[in-house]
Amino acid sequence: MLITDTGVPERYIDIDDWGGEVMLRLDDGWCAALDRDSMRCTIYEKRPLICREFETGSADCLEERRGIATAYR
Ligand code: SF4
Repeated sequence: MLITDTGVPERYIDIDDWGGEVMLRLDDGWCAALDRDSMRCTIYEKRPLICREFETGSADCLEERRGIATAYR
């Protein structure tokens, strides 16, 4: 969810069912700003606040990784 203006390009912004701005997701659920080859953010300098605050290796991060790891089995 975009809660502050960090300069995310319009083409990556979607509106959710409640009218809030969110990052656009592709049909498979992945963020549209992710480079699928390098697995790096293509808008790193303009990424949303929540992406800046999400700590790599934190409990939430590991939980997400576990979910992704099992999502396609
Ligand atoms: S950090 Fe990840 S989730 Fe956030 S905008 Fe970049 S690719 Fe998308």
